[in-house]
Amino acid sequence: MMTIRQEVEALLAALGVPSSLTTSGDLTVRTPITGEIIAQVSTITAEAAKAAIAKAHAAYLEWRNVPAPKRGELIRLLGEELRANIEPLGRLVTIESGKLLSEGQGEVQEMIDICTFAAGLSRQLAGLTVPSERAKHRMMETWHSLGVVGVISAFNFPVAVWSWNAALALVCGDAVVWKPSEKTPLTALATQAIFERAAKKFGAIPAGLATLLIGDAKVGEQLVDSPLIPLVSATGSTAMGRAVAPRLAARFAKAILELGGNNAAIVAPSADLDLTLRAIAFSAMGTAGQRCTTLRRLIVHESIYDKFIPQLKKVYSSVVIGDPGAQGTLVGPLIDERSYKAMQGALEEARSAGATITGGERIETADVEAFYVRPALVEVSSQTETVKRETFAPILYVLKYSDFAGALGLHNDVPQGLSSSIFTMNLREAELFLSVTGSDCGIANVNIGTSGAEIGGAFGGEKETGGGRESGSDAWKQYMRRATNTINYGTDLPLAQGVSFDIA
Ligand code: NAD
Repeated sequence: MMTIRQEVEALLAALGVPSSLTTSGDLTVRTPITGEIIAQVSTITAEAAKAAIAKAHAAYLEWRNVPAPKRGELIRLLGEELRANIEPLGRLVTIESGKLLSEGQGEVQEMIDICTFAAGLSRQLAGLTVPSERAKHRMMETWHSLGVVGVISAFNFPVAVWSWNAALALVCGDAVVWKPSEKTPLTALATQAIFERAAKKFGAIPAGLATLLIGDAKVGEQLVDSPLIPLVSATGSTAMGRAVAPRLAARFAKAILELGGNNAAIVAPSADLDLTLRAIAFSAMGTAGQRCTTLRRLIVHESIYDKFIPQLKKVYSSVVIGDPGAQGTLVGPLIDERSYKAMQGALEEARSAGATITGGERIETADVEAFYVRPALVEVSSQTETVKRETFAPILYVLKYSDFAGALGLHNDVPQGLSSSIFTMNLREAELFLSVTGSDCGIANVNIGTSGAEIGGAFGGEKETGGGRESGSDAWKQYMRRATNTINYGTDLPLAQGVSFDIA
């Protein structure tokens, strides 16, 4: 039987990653499935990163002249190449990040979907025509490409986040420089190899148009500080956002910040409890609680609490935890020991504040460096500082409410504002939740969970989640610069607002 390391080698070979890139180097790559070492990768030096950014800028200067629908053809080919590699790349995502096989493949499907979206978008980068107040004048908006887009991504969506940004940026005429998580360089190398094959099929593209820089936060900082990068899209913790936002602001660069969430769901008395149970199970325990949209707080009406919570506890105690590649597993490993310790720390804090905890314990395996835990249900009487913090692990805090206004108050009383849900059959409650006085999040759902967004909508959140929007809807506009044009096709020169300035 193949070891995981041998399987990784075979997958990388199938995906077209030269073995010279993964067999030596200063960065040790481990799989969270067993904790064992699966590769050694070289990180980029500061000098080489600087040169790569300059090369990307030169590539941008050429690429912006390629007509947008032609740029869309590159992304269509990228989508095709991804489609052909969905299985090996999906499996590699599972091995490197620890998510279930269907989620690993789902992540690649998401990449394919955004390519389809962006290829169509390449013929729709249209501006408005605006009525002018002056006779024989026409006003319009033109969208121009922006420059090099820096992408910094997190470990938990090791490839999809790049594609959300890169597919849009490339059709918009930008170049892309990507700094993936230092925990997931292999899937990044595989994605780069896939991109390069698509580029070869496309024909000549400027060298360095889409570049991968492997390294730690220091390399990320280079993207943040480079004057050649007008937009940085950074996905990760709120702590990371706090570090990069002021540096970007200091040089007036644009930022798309996709940071931590502390997502809640309200379960109202009229909720369809069977559907709610299934939605909550996936949102709270899926990806071992390591999605930015993971459900972290459950606000349940007091009239159904005693019926619903025991049902949920039953699901929590029976869910299958283990190898994410095995049939039947629903909860895979935490990414590493640090994550395990953060989870135990949060549970300890909750316990000493009087919470009732079900689950949360480590599942012992033969692999000392793998961290499997039973997801925890933590019943609390109020929203303490622990509850208000995002702990990136499967902890679901459960709160009771008596009136709807109180539930909404609890819902919004956290620093983050990413995703939210209400489970109700009451139209007034549902509409209120979606209204301006309802959920304060970037994503608000009715009768589905907080996680599992589609690419067609704009994705992102408010408050400490950073305010960025990626992926669908009109998120593309951030990757371009808007020019307002006024054209005078008459012989007079009327000034706006009736201002007169006669020099004759
Ligand atoms: P992290 O903040 O530790 O790292 C994310 C990325 O930022 C990595 O590539 C890292 O090297 C880089 N980085 C860290 N500090 C930096 C700095 N000062 N300058 C430049 N780059 C820096 O996050 P993580 O542990 O990989 O991911 C989990 C976190 O990401 C969670 O908080 C989760 O909610 C969040 N997340 C958010 C979204 C979203 O769309 N809102 C999506 C996925 C993950």
